[in-house]
Amino acid sequence: MKNIEHIGIAVRDLESSVELFSKLLNIPPYKSEKVESEGVETTFFKTGETKVELLSATNEDSPIAKFLEKKGEGIHHIAFEVADLDAEIKRLEKEGFKLINQASKDGADNKKIAFLHPKSTNGVLIEICQEKEK
Ligand code: ZN
Repeated sequence: MKNIEHIGIAVRDLESSVELFSKLLNIPPYKSEKVESEGVETTFFKTGETKVELLSATNEDSPIAKFLEKKGEGIHHIAFEVADLDAEIKRLEKEGFKLINQASKDGADNKKIAFLHPKSTNGVLIEICQEKEK
């Protein structure tokens, strides 16, 4: 795996959190995006090579809504960039990791993504991602 591409933070109210993080990081967000299939709305900040992704739920069945209910606001996942997502999925499966997504799917910010189950990674939700070819 390569660098930490981004850190995902679950928030209840995206608008006020975007304001807060703009102040905190002293930069404006560069992108906001709804991923309707995932029930999430995201806003991204670029801090050097790594991004901060704020995530809020767009409906009650959203995985983010469930996370907020169970754990409250806070770090939701860590995303690592990989050179070949499909190969990495196969490698991790072979190593015995549990994957939430056996095949890559479309994520926000022009990425193909897959999540590992936190049960097999010390309670941390890990995302692996690869930039989609344009
Ligand atoms: Zn992410």
